[in-house]
Amino acid sequence: MGFRPFVYRLAVSFNLKGFVLNTVRGVEIEVEGKSEVVDHFMDVLPKQIPPASKISKIEISDLSLQNDFEFQIRPSRREQQRSALISPDIGICEDCLRELLDPANRRYRYPFINCTNCGPRYTILREIPYDRPNTTMSVFRMCPECQSEYDNPENRRFHAEPNACPVCGPEVWLTDSAGQRIQVQDPVSETIRLLKSGKIVAVKGLGGFHLACDAENDRAVSMLRVRKHREEKPLAVMAPDLSAVSKFAEYTDQEMDLLISQRRPIVLLKKKPSHPLSKEVAPKNDTFGVMLPYTPLHYLILQKGLTALIMTSGNISEEPIAIGNEEAVQRLGNIADFFLIHNRDIYLRSDDSVTRVIRSLPRPIRRSRGMVPVPIFLKRKLTSVLAVGGELKNTICFTQGDRAFVSQHVGDLENAETLAFFEECIDHFEQILQIKPEAVVYDLHPDYLSTQWVSEKKGIKQIGVQHHHAHIASCLAENGCDEKVIGLALDGTGYGSDGHIWGGEILIADLRTFQRTAHFDYRPMPGGEKVIREPWRMALSYIYTQFSNQTSSNLKNRDFFQYIKRLSFLKEIGMDSVRTIVKMIENNLNPVMTSSLGRLFDGVAALIGLRNVVAFEGQAAMELEMAMDSYFKKRIEEPGYEFEIIQDRGTLIFSPDNVIRQIVDDVSNKVSASQISLKFHIGLVHLFLHGCRIMRERFQLDTVALSGGCFQNRFLLEKLSDLLEADQFKVLSHSQVPANDGGLALGQAAVAGYQLIEE
Ligand code: ZN
Ligand code: ZN
Ligand code: FE
Repeated sequence: MGFRPFVYRLAVSFNLKGFVLNTVRGVEIEVEGKSEVVDHFMDVLPKQIPPASKISKIEISDLSLQNDFEFQIRPSRREQQRSALISPDIGICEDCLRELLDPANRRYRYPFINCTNCGPRYTILREIPYDRPNTTMSVFRMCPECQSEYDNPENRRFHAEPNACPVCGPEVWLTDSAGQRIQVQDPVSETIRLLKSGKIVAVKGLGGFHLACDAENDRAVSMLRVRKHREEKPLAVMAPDLSAVSKFAEYTDQEMDLLISQRRPIVLLKKKPSHPLSKEVAPKNDTFGVMLPYTPLHYLILQKGLTALIMTSGNISEEPIAIGNEEAVQRLGNIADFFLIHNRDIYLRSDDSVTRVIRSLPRPIRRSRGMVPVPIFLKRKLTSVLAVGGELKNTICFTQGDRAFVSQHVGDLENAETLAFFEECIDHFEQILQIKPEAVVYDLHPDYLSTQWVSEKKGIKQIGVQHHHAHIASCLAENGCDEKVIGLALDGTGYGSDGHIWGGEILIADLRTFQRTAHFDYRPMPGGEKVIREPWRMALSYIYTQFSNQTSSNLKNRDFFQYIKRLSFLKEIGMDSVRTIVKMIENNLNPVMTSSLGRLFDGVAALIGLRNVVAFEGQAAMELEMAMDSYFKKRIEEPGYEFEIIQDRGTLIFSPDNVIRQIVDDVSNKVSASQISLKFHIGLVHLFLHGCRIMRERFQLDTVALSGGCFQNRFLLEKLSDLLEADQFKVLSHSQVPANDGGLALGQAAVAGYQLIEE
């Protein structure tokens, strides 16, 4: 990022001769001069690199004297191996922001201002190397003024590939919901007026369209929810600056650093007890997803008096985000009243990244715009593979040498549109990284579209990796660890090697293999996948199994119905449905069974009356965590519920029965949901600590890797890590890729890579 001009200036200031050039492997610098000066230059270089750049590796070698008489920036050199790092998109820099708001500047209020330190990169790139003809800026011919900036090594816009100005570059305009251009003096001012009057405007951004409306306006936010078919899932907001954020959310120094970083992710921040935003923004949630503006256009829109805008992905429910102008009008015309459109094409879609700070580290929930395609560096060089991830929150991953390139968020692979984007991502990565994978890696779940996609591939080695092994491997890979560890894999759904649904597992694993040494006891999933949407079914499954285990052979149905009569969450369900489910559990000879902690969270949430039906995956578990939060703040120390551990031929089985029985009693005794939730969480943390201690004894291992979607739960990650570390365990957790299925592809790729070494 502006690296060559930086090197040029530095070398000239040291009076060194030679050259700098971009190769596809990185930057090549040749300097000659007095050896102490060269040493000094080498010393200063890594310390003074431009803010948006990052050095991953420096290789130095001596050359014979070339007798150069000046220092030059030379044009880039094409080579066989194209492993140069491609930059992610970068939020607008301070210099450009100052110029944007300076009436004397020739780019005053120009929505596409950028320089070598900022602007679009990955999302406008069609092909490498990253030169203007290979980007969607190729259709704009630079005016003489822009060209002279572009050609001048002393200029901040030297080789800024998307360089543009109002004379020669892209422009914005406003259309109605049918895509008809509206003639106005200033489309941006008109957009602000429309937003303030409660309209929904689709705004074209860096990686796709956003749907924007005034976050303080209840009616507008509710309307957006109805039209987008998004009932309850929190909506992200964009605020003009930190002081605006302070009006509705709290943030720590680390959260602030993330907010203002040029990656500009959405950061989950604690809501202020009283705030001006609509309660429709994030109902029943104690956080807001907040980001600061990252394009000049965002800054222009947020200049005048808006506290925050809803800025949610421009899509209908689970489809990919819209990027093309016509496509957007077609797909979003029923949602947006107006479109703020421009003619700088987005080549590849990329949603906003989402992150949360836990234990002083950023924990990605969605790793996308601003972070992709930055590679994850592996412990060693591996055979190139393509890993296709899971189903929900899908990402894909290519490896090349010691680098793993995880794609942007592809989405839930449940419809044709997302599958098409999945294929597009694979093709694009293959092309820009020039990788020919030697194997494709997939999840064992036979119904996943990604798995099916792999099974149709001919003539390439296929490697299946178990879901939870991939989770643990993902954690190991990003932490540069390839030793054997105690892996705690806690999530909602993953296909087990025995055909059941796993998700509450202790695996003794390394990057090659795993051994399952502990798990939650299996419970039936009445109605299969339906339990994910209807947690009350799982609640009933846990209660029924507990009751029948307790009363052994002579269980009377009548007794069970007597037992559950006191549980108020079933009132809403109705006894007929309850009977149907009980029959299903009793009579199904071949039930789908699960050991998932995610399902246990769901079941407990339903049992204590938080919710019977969810609008999105993980909602009940989230609300269970938040129920506790308000109680925990009162700092009341509770002993947790105690889980029973059963030994079964060397495998530890965690039985939920004890805990379910105590919760049923507590619910009957009107103990509050927050107190129950706290006792449940504390019980879990101690269960896992205990499980890890047993594994340490048995296998002489003291590193624990934490992975799986349940580790998005702040309490679980914080308290468990604290307790483990206090007990002399070394704890590995995620801070580069998501702990959820968004990180799965990295783990799959690492496992396949290590397995291929063996052969
Ligand atoms: Zn800039
Ligand atoms: Zn120009
Ligand atoms: Fe998972």
